[in-house]
Amino acid sequence: MLTSIYVHIPFCDHICTYCDFHKEIASDRKKRNYIDALCRELVVHQDDLVDIKTIYIGGGTPLSLDEQLLAKLLETISQVVDTSRLVEYTIETNPNNLTASKIALLQHHGVNRVSIGVQTFQSAQLKFLNRDHKLADVTNGIQLLRDAKFPTISVDMIFSLIGQTMAELDDDLNKVIALGVDHISYYSLILEEKTILFHMYRKNEIEPNDEDLEGAMYERVIDTLQANGYDQYEISNFARNGAESEHNKTYWLNRDYRGFGSGAHSLMDGKRFYHEPNVRRYIQRAASDDFQPTSVEVTDGLADALMLGLRLTKGVSVTELNQRYDTDLFARYPELNNHINNGFIIHDNDRLFLSRSGILLGNIVFQTFVEVT
Ligand code: SF4
Repeated sequence: MLTSIYVHIPFCDHICTYCDFHKEIASDRKKRNYIDALCRELVVHQDDLVDIKTIYIGGGTPLSLDEQLLAKLLETISQVVDTSRLVEYTIETNPNNLTASKIALLQHHGVNRVSIGVQTFQSAQLKFLNRDHKLADVTNGIQLLRDAKFPTISVDMIFSLIGQTMAELDDDLNKVIALGVDHISYYSLILEEKTILFHMYRKNEIEPNDEDLEGAMYERVIDTLQANGYDQYEISNFARNGAESEHNKTYWLNRDYRGFGSGAHSLMDGKRFYHEPNVRRYIQRAASDDFQPTSVEVTDGLADALMLGLRLTKGVSVTELNQRYDTDLFARYPELNNHINNGFIIHDNDRLFLSRSGILLGNIVFQTFVEVT
């Protein structure tokens, strides 16, 4: 049963130096044509959307859309999904895109969670990352949300920034905790290919932090957030008072979801479907209601369920995976026993989950499952 949809808005007002998401700076006309095409895709597939429980509008920067386009998108979603039955409805934004009228529009359409890209509180780092917002935008934006009694606020942060010291990380941690938001995602900086930072790295203009420092910073993030009431429920995600992201759990539990828009992908019935990340062609094809995926890939459901499920601190149920994939997990992955003996994975009462050292070295553990498949 399809219970989650993702809607992609591939537009930003500026390009951050580390970002490899599918996004572009576009004209108003292109944005208008894109929203028309996207709304059409939603309407064409509305019969599949009767049981939707979570919606995530991501990007790009969805809230950078002007109010007219934002209203059109939200109205269309309200037409094709019964938003009164949603448990979670998230939109991503940058701090400077939050205005009282946009927040009112979101609330009118039942959006109940906003995910804000803060990344760091160090002005020099914000500039280096080419972020568009100022520090005051963060507190102003959150105050506007609070004034409107907006239900759930999440903030995205990055650690192990180029040249970042432990003292700067501590300052970021203190400031993000002081915001008192419900949910914090904290990722390490990754130098992705085709980004400005990666280009600078190739030209020896920047030097990433060494692995030891990055590991120490990750531990500092976990310890500090946990000491301040944020439970780590996923490798990079922390929630207060149970405010875990229900939509993102769809991905980590390897459940079906459908993506709408240029570059969006879907998981349905064990297959991943991809829309080509090309706004112009997406608009062209939409003119003839052609929303066929540009590529399809049969997945190894068990490997995905194991790798994604182990990202959650409560891990996976052996019995559940064996039943769901008609398999014997330990026969299929004998390496699991090594990880248990090495102390990276804990096997307790039918559940497998990463230990603290497993969390710190997650990629090494996950690599095992990739190699076997
Ligand atoms: S605002 Fe977000 S999506 Fe846009 S370039 Fe920056 S990081 Fe990427």
